[in-house]
Amino acid sequence: MKASLFYLYQLKEKEISFTQSVIGLKCPNCRKGDLFKKKGLIVYSDMLEMHEDCSNCEFHYEIEPGFWLGSLWTSYPIVILIEVPFLFLALFADKEMTWVYLGAMILSFLISWPLMLRLGRSIWIHINVRKEEN
Ligand SMILES: [Zn+2]
Repeated sequence: MKASLFYLYQLKEKEISFTQSVIGLKCPNCRKGDLFKKKGLIVYSDMLEMHEDCSNCEFHYEIEPGFWLGSLWTSYPIVILIEVPFLFLALFADKEMTWVYLGAMILSFLISWPLMLRLGRSIWIHINVRKEEN
């Protein structure tokens, strides 16, 4: 019993990596608090509802007014990664299949819309904020 409690304590205290923090939508400063009110990369309601400050270290997420506009730069490559394969399929596949691939492109865009916005914001804040050293 004692050993398992110690093991759980170790798991709780284990630090997560930069990548885990970005994908897990965690605070860039302590990597423990959540950036968004709803968890998960793909959330369709209130997808951009964020906490103003970290629940763990009280780091203020919106560093300056308009800070999140910069996340367009990090969302854009995600859009490219998801959509370009469909574009190439539509361009170079059989002509009868062009509309199918274009439809798949639009559908994939609609499905992954929250992922692009949320992950884009997470990448943006992790690029701009360095983790505090303990
Ligand atoms: Zn924090």
